[in-house]
Amino acid sequence: MEERDKRRVGEQIEPGGRPKAPGRLELLQRFINSYNHDFPPDWDRIGTGEKAQAWLREKGLLAPGEQISDADALRLCKLREALRALVVANHGGEPDAEAAEIIRKLSRVALFRAAIDDEGRVGLEPAGHGADGAVATLLGIVSEAQVRGDWVRMKACRQCEYAFFDRSKNRSAAWCSMSICGNRTKNRAYYRRRSSGT
Ligand SMILES: [Zn+2]
Repeated sequence: MEERDKRRVGEQIEPGGRPKAPGRLELLQRFINSYNHDFPPDWDRIGTGEKAQAWLREKGLLAPGEQISDADALRLCKLREALRALVVANHGGEPDAEAAEIIRKLSRVALFRAAIDDEGRVGLEPAGHGADGAVATLLGIVSEAQVRGDWVRMKACRQCEYAFFDRSKNRSAAWCSMSICGNRTKNRAYYRRRSSGT
Protein backbone atom coordinates (compact mmCIF):
# COMPACT_ATOMS: atom_id res chain seq x y z
CA MET A 1 0.00 0.00 0.00
CA GLU A 2 1.28 3.49 -0.80
CA GLU A 3 1.92 5.91 2.05
CA ARG A 4 -0.76 8.28 0.75
CA ASP A 5 -3.35 5.47 0.99
CA LYS A 6 -2.02 4.25 4.33
CA ARG A 7 -2.59 7.68 5.84
CA ARG A 8 -6.23 7.53 4.77
CA VAL A 9 -6.88 4.18 6.44
CA GLY A 10 -9.21 4.52 9.41
CA GLU A 11 -10.64 7.78 8.12
CA GLN A 12 -11.48 7.90 4.42
CA ILE A 13 -10.97 4.18 3.80
CA GLU A 14 -11.30 1.03 5.89
CA PRO A 15 -8.68 -1.70 5.94
CA GLY A 16 -9.92 -4.48 3.69
CA GLY A 17 -12.52 -2.11 2.21
CA ARG A 18 -15.23 -3.27 4.63
CA PRO A 19 -18.31 -1.09 5.06
CA LYS A 20 -18.23 1.15 8.13
CA ALA A 21 -20.00 0.40 11.41
CA PRO A 22 -23.65 1.54 11.44
CA GLY A 23 -24.94 4.76 13.00
CA ARG A 24 -22.98 6.39 15.78
CA LEU A 25 -20.85 3.28 16.18
CA GLU A 26 -18.91 4.56 13.18
CA LEU A 27 -17.58 7.37 15.35
CA LEU A 28 -16.31 4.89 17.91
CA GLN A 29 -14.72 2.85 15.12
CA ARG A 30 -12.97 6.00 13.86
CA PHE A 31 -11.79 6.72 17.39
CA ILE A 32 -10.20 3.27 17.77
CA ASN A 33 -8.74 3.55 14.26
CA SER A 34 -7.21 6.98 14.96
CA TYR A 35 -3.99 5.05 15.39
CA ASN A 36 -2.57 1.70 14.41
CA HIS A 37 0.56 -0.01 15.72
CA ASP A 38 1.68 -0.71 12.14
CA PHE A 39 2.28 3.02 11.68
CA PRO A 40 4.91 5.43 13.05
CA PRO A 41 3.91 7.02 16.41
CA ASP A 42 3.65 10.52 14.91
CA TRP A 43 0.80 9.28 12.70
CA ASP A 44 -1.39 9.07 15.80
CA ARG A 45 -4.33 11.36 14.99
CA ILE A 46 -4.90 12.14 18.66
CA GLY A 47 -1.29 11.74 19.85
CA THR A 48 -0.89 15.32 21.15
CA GLY A 49 -3.28 17.84 22.66
CA GLU A 50 -3.22 19.88 19.49
CA LYS A 51 -3.92 16.92 17.20
CA ALA A 52 -6.60 15.50 19.49
CA GLN A 53 -8.29 18.90 19.64
CA ALA A 54 -8.44 19.16 15.86
CA TRP A 55 -9.65 15.57 15.48
CA LEU A 56 -12.35 15.82 18.15
CA ARG A 57 -13.59 19.13 16.77
CA GLU A 58 -13.81 17.72 13.26
CA LYS A 59 -15.86 14.80 14.61
CA GLY A 60 -18.22 17.08 16.54
CA LEU A 61 -16.93 15.77 19.89
CA LEU A 62 -15.68 19.16 20.98
CA ALA A 63 -17.54 22.46 21.06
CA PRO A 64 -15.93 25.59 19.59
CA GLY A 65 -13.64 27.21 22.15
CA GLU A 66 -13.09 23.99 24.14
CA GLN A 67 -9.49 22.92 24.43
CA ILE A 68 -7.59 19.67 24.79
CA SER A 69 -4.30 19.50 26.69
CA ASP A 70 -1.51 16.97 26.18
CA ALA A 71 -2.65 15.27 29.42
CA ASP A 72 -6.20 15.02 28.01
CA ALA A 73 -4.80 13.48 24.82
CA LEU A 74 -2.92 10.91 26.88
CA ARG A 75 -6.15 9.97 28.69
CA LEU A 76 -7.97 9.66 25.38
CA CYS A 77 -5.20 7.43 23.99
CA LYS A 78 -5.49 5.18 27.05
CA LEU A 79 -9.24 4.99 26.57
CA ARG A 80 -8.74 4.15 22.90
CA GLU A 81 -6.33 1.29 23.61
CA ALA A 82 -8.60 -0.12 26.33
CA LEU A 83 -11.57 0.02 23.94
CA ARG A 84 -9.42 -1.70 21.34
CA ALA A 85 -8.72 -4.48 23.87
CA LEU A 86 -12.47 -4.85 24.44
CA VAL A 87 -13.25 -5.18 20.75
CA VAL A 88 -10.38 -7.67 20.38
CA ALA A 89 -12.11 -9.67 23.15
CA ASN A 90 -15.34 -9.58 21.11
CA HIS A 91 -13.86 -12.43 19.04
CA GLY A 92 -14.80 -14.65 21.95
CA GLY A 93 -12.70 -16.13 24.67
CA GLU A 94 -11.72 -14.28 27.82
CA PRO A 95 -13.26 -10.86 28.43
CA ASP A 96 -10.53 -8.31 29.12
CA ALA A 97 -11.00 -7.35 32.79
CA GLU A 98 -7.86 -5.19 32.80
CA ALA A 99 -9.21 -3.08 29.93
CA ALA A 100 -12.57 -2.80 31.69
CA GLU A 101 -10.78 -1.52 34.81
CA ILE A 102 -8.91 1.13 32.81
CA ILE A 103 -12.19 2.29 31.25
CA ARG A 104 -13.87 2.26 34.67
CA LYS A 105 -11.20 4.62 36.01
CA LEU A 106 -11.28 6.90 32.98
CA SER A 107 -15.09 7.00 33.05
CA ARG A 108 -15.19 8.81 36.41
CA VAL A 109 -15.19 12.13 34.56
CA ALA A 110 -18.08 11.13 32.31
CA LEU A 111 -21.32 12.84 33.30
CA PHE A 112 -24.75 12.30 31.80
CA ARG A 113 -28.08 14.02 32.22
CA ALA A 114 -31.57 12.77 31.48
CA ALA A 115 -32.99 14.13 28.24
CA ILE A 116 -36.75 13.83 27.71
CA ASP A 117 -38.32 14.46 24.32
CA ASP A 118 -41.89 15.69 23.63
CA GLU A 119 -43.19 12.13 23.52
CA GLY A 120 -41.77 11.43 26.95
CA ARG A 121 -38.96 9.19 25.78
CA VAL A 122 -36.08 9.34 28.18
CA GLY A 123 -32.49 9.21 27.01
CA LEU A 124 -29.10 9.99 28.50
CA GLU A 125 -26.92 12.67 27.01
CA PRO A 126 -23.35 13.66 27.85
CA ALA A 127 -23.22 16.65 30.15
CA GLY A 128 -19.50 17.44 30.45
CA HIS A 129 -17.20 19.68 28.45
CA GLY A 130 -13.90 19.24 26.66
CA ALA A 131 -12.19 15.87 26.93
CA ASP A 132 -14.59 14.79 29.70
CA GLY A 133 -17.55 15.42 27.41
CA ALA A 134 -15.86 13.46 24.61
CA VAL A 135 -15.24 10.51 26.96
CA ALA A 136 -18.93 10.59 27.95
CA THR A 137 -20.08 10.68 24.31
CA LEU A 138 -17.83 7.75 23.37
CA LEU A 139 -18.93 5.66 26.35
CA GLY A 140 -22.55 6.55 25.56
CA ILE A 141 -22.04 5.08 22.09
CA VAL A 142 -20.64 1.87 23.61
CA SER A 143 -23.62 1.63 25.95
CA GLU A 144 -26.09 2.23 23.12
CA ALA A 145 -24.45 -0.49 20.98
CA GLN A 146 -24.47 -2.93 23.88
CA VAL A 147 -28.19 -2.33 24.51
CA ARG A 148 -28.96 -2.66 20.81
CA GLY A 149 -26.87 -5.83 20.50
CA ASP A 150 -24.46 -4.39 17.90
CA TRP A 151 -21.48 -4.30 20.23
CA VAL A 152 -20.54 -7.97 19.78
CA ARG A 153 -20.05 -7.25 16.07
CA MET A 154 -17.54 -4.49 16.79
CA LYS A 155 -14.17 -6.26 16.57
CA ALA A 156 -10.52 -5.59 15.97
CA CYS A 157 -8.62 -7.51 13.33
CA ARG A 158 -6.59 -10.30 14.91
CA GLN A 159 -3.58 -9.28 12.83
CA CYS A 160 -3.53 -5.48 12.48
CA GLU A 161 -5.99 -4.60 15.30
CA TYR A 162 -7.95 -2.15 13.20
CA ALA A 163 -11.54 -1.95 14.41
CA PHE A 164 -14.09 -3.31 11.97
CA PHE A 165 -17.78 -4.15 12.06
CA ASP A 166 -18.48 -7.83 11.52
CA ARG A 167 -21.51 -8.16 9.25
CA SER A 168 -21.11 -11.90 8.69
CA LYS A 169 -24.17 -14.02 9.50
CA ASN A 170 -22.54 -16.08 12.23
CA ARG A 171 -20.25 -13.28 13.50
CA SER A 172 -17.17 -15.27 12.54
CA ALA A 173 -14.97 -12.64 10.88
CA ALA A 174 -11.49 -12.60 12.40
CA TRP A 175 -9.58 -10.30 10.08
CA CYS A 176 -10.23 -6.90 8.55
CA SER A 177 -9.58 -8.55 5.21
CA MET A 178 -8.92 -12.18 4.39
CA SER A 179 -6.77 -11.18 1.41
CA ILE A 180 -4.51 -8.92 3.47
CA CYS A 181 -4.39 -9.91 7.14
CA GLY A 182 -5.87 -13.39 6.85
CA ASN A 183 -3.10 -14.38 4.45
CA ARG A 184 -0.42 -12.58 6.44
CA THR A 185 -1.39 -14.69 9.45
CA LYS A 186 -1.48 -17.89 7.42
CA ASN A 187 1.91 -17.21 5.81
CA ARG A 188 3.46 -16.53 9.18
CA ALA A 189 2.10 -19.78 10.58
CA TYR A 190 3.38 -21.56 7.47
CA TYR A 191 6.93 -20.19 7.84
CA ARG A 192 6.89 -20.92 11.55
CA ARG A 193 5.96 -24.53 10.87
CA ARG A 194 8.61 -24.82 8.17
CA SER A 195 11.39 -23.29 10.24
CA SER A 196 10.56 -25.47 13.22
CA GLY A 197 10.66 -28.48 10.89
CA THR A 198 7.19 -29.74 11.62
ZN1 LIG B 1 -6.21 -6.52 9.52
